[in-house]
Formats: sequence, structure tokens, C-alpha cells
Amino acid sequence: MVERTLIVIKPDGVQRHLIGEIIGRFEKKGFKLVAAKFLQLSEKQAGQLYAVHREKAFFKGLIKFLSSAPVLLMVWEAEGVIDMTRKMMGATFGFYAELGTIRGDFSCSERCNLVHGSDSPESAQQEIKLFFTPSEIINYKLTDAHWLYGRAVSPKK
Ligand code: UDP
Ligand code: MG
Repeated sequence: MVERTLIVIKPDGVQRHLIGEIIGRFEKKGFKLVAAKFLQLSEKQAGQLYAVHREKAFFKGLIKFLSSAPVLLMVWEAEGVIDMTRKMMGATFGFYAELGTIRGDFSCSERCNLVHGSDSPESAQQEIKLFFTPSEIINYKLTDAHWLYGRAVSPKK
């Protein structure tokens, strides 16, 4: 099923010049970028994104971190994009994340782990709504869709 997910390159990803690296991984995997905004979040906006963690001990520090410098907010679209982006991000703590993942390759921190990605279709829908209106999400076709999903190529008999 075609899904959309909210990906955020966090302040450490921007400050560490990793925007291109992170976008490049998603782009090369074949996902479709359908919206993007470069913003410095308010503490309120950061708190809305991480509302599920409101009661956690790390919440306050997390909100301060996320609103401390600009972030790149993006919506990516593809079949199965939520699970695939989560796998490509790696485990939450950079020091545990597998090599080959974004966090495993570039982060060694609990908090400064470079990237946020929605973890379910329900949270994706809610999180996208926080930052993008429907008209800011662009509907278009990528011309390589046949080759990505392999469906339009009928084998020669
Ligand atoms: N985080 C933190 N300390 C912790 C756990 C999480 O600062 O002990 C931060 C970290 O930046 C993480 C974010 O809070 O990405 C949200 O945590 P979650 O468990 O949802 O991890 P994620 O979904 O990002 O892997
Ligand atoms: Mg999470």
C-alpha cells in the first residue's frame, strides 16, 4: 500500500552537514519526496511532534534540543515507506544502531540521533498534519515507478 511518512532531519543533522547524506539515502532507495519545509520549530511545535513522550524524563531536554536550531521537515511517499524508513534510520540510540543505518553510521548519542521518522500509519497521518496542509503535499508521478516496483515489465515468452 502506498504510504506517506514524516521525516525530520533534526538540528544535529543540519548542523553536522548531513542533510544531503540523509536525503540521498531515501532518494536512492526510490522513495518519492512530496513535501518539504526548512524551519526552526517552537518548543510548542516540538512538543506536539513528541506528545507521546510528554511524561518521559527526557521530554524537556528533547524539546529544547529539537527547537534549538533549524530542522528539515519532509513527507516521503512509497509502498511500505514507514517500515523501510524506520529500518534505514536504525535503532533510537546511535551507539546501538546497526552499521549501515543512518544512526548507526553517523550518531553515537541517545538524543542527537539525526532523524525522526513516523512509526505507524496513524502517527504518520497525525504528524504530517502538524506541519503540512493538504495543498502543500504535491501529487506527481515519478517516471521510474515501473522499475522500482517491477510491475509494468511483462516477461517475454
Ligand atoms: N530520546 C532521548 N532520550 C531517550 C530516548 C529518546 O533524548 O532516552 C530522544 C531521541 O532523540 C529519540 C526521541 O527522543 O529519537 C524520540 O524517542 P523514540 O523512543 O520515539 O525514538 P525514535 O522513534 O526516534 O527511534
Ligand atoms: Mg518515535
